[in-house]
Amino acid sequence: MERSIAQLLQLESFTKSEIVELLSSDGEDKVQLFKKSAAVKEKYVKNKVYFRGLIEFSNICEKNCFYCGIRKTNMHVRRYNLSDDEILHAAKFAFDNNYGSIVLQSGEIQSPVFTKRIENLLKKIARFSGNKLRVTLSLGEQSYKTYRQWFESGAHRYLLRIESSNPELYKKLHPNDELHRFERRLESLKILKDIGYQTGTGVMIGLPFQTLENLADDLLFMKNFSIDMVGMGPYIEHADTPLFQYRQMLLPKEERFQLALKMIAILRIMMKDINIASATALQAIDKLGREKAIKIGANVIMPNVTPGYYRDDYALYENKPCTDENPEDCISCLEARIALSLNKIGFGEWGDSAHYNNRMGKTETNQDI
Ligand code: SAM
Ligand code: SF4
Repeated sequence: MERSIAQLLQLESFTKSEIVELLSSDGEDKVQLFKKSAAVKEKYVKNKVYFRGLIEFSNICEKNCFYCGIRKTNMHVRRYNLSDDEILHAAKFAFDNNYGSIVLQSGEIQSPVFTKRIENLLKKIARFSGNKLRVTLSLGEQSYKTYRQWFESGAHRYLLRIESSNPELYKKLHPNDELHRFERRLESLKILKDIGYQTGTGVMIGLPFQTLENLADDLLFMKNFSIDMVGMGPYIEHADTPLFQYRQMLLPKEERFQLALKMIAILRIMMKDINIASATALQAIDKLGREKAIKIGANVIMPNVTPGYYRDDYALYENKPCTDENPEDCISCLEARIALSLNKIGFGEWGDSAHYNNRMGKTETNQDI
């Protein structure tokens, strides 16, 4: 007997085929899915949005992922690397504006000099903020020792997207060499969790060769891994990348956008207490994309606090939003739009993942700063 979407949404967990069914939902069924995920969000993590000031401090990268505009061999990119002072200034800006935390993100570099540099920055950030600013790192794959060193220097969270949990698809998206191994990516995620980081992952949605079954597996992977945070958004093509040749295989952008919203909604129902970020790539397709994701399940937004004049050069994909704005402009437009989505901004709060606190047996640590 056919089961209706309403009946499916009564379940506490979903099988792969049920997830595929939800991912295929449209019209009134999709409305019901979004209603349910919004209700789960309100019940378990409240209608609150946490800000993470995103500092994209360098676009220099040793890797060559087939989808990414700042890949090593793209010679059309003007490479930049913010000075320590510029990074600290951006971190201070986030702190002064009452954000509970920041994200330090860059291309991937594995070297003792890079490790030391990040360690020093973490210590300086802890010092000027009196340990009151949470720091998330998003610096790719590193050794156990490096991850540990950064954790002990004050990093609390780490974002490392698995990109796709399917090894075959992962291979199609990356060069076949030691720097780009699926197994290493997975191992890095496990190490981060073992060390004690609030661990985040994510995938790109609407990639060439990707099926709805792949996406269902991605959600089950996140659930089975008991991940604390997720940031996932639509894949957006970039003309200077090898994957661009497959652009005819892509869904239209609006469909990729809707698929990303459905992924977020289903994940919120499956993992009620995690933090889900509303990815910037959503906004590259729909001006109100991030706010739409907040409405149906996401609870974290990462306003860009990188100095405006560098932003054009961190072009991962086409139409990356807000590259022509300064941090000040970004905040006021975001605040106004979040008010429209009837969510409150958790100013002065860390907004730690409740899932992390629950699995570590910690009581609430979202202290006011
Ligand atoms: N280098 C680090 C890493 O790869 O983990 C952090 C920075 S990397 C630019 C951050 C994320 O950008 C990647 O995990 C990937 O999912 C996303 N990204 C790269 N190219 C993209 C594209 N064309 N469309 C959407 N997201 C993309
Ligand atoms: Fe480098 Fe990250 Fe882009 Fe891959 S996704 S090329 S590691 S910046």
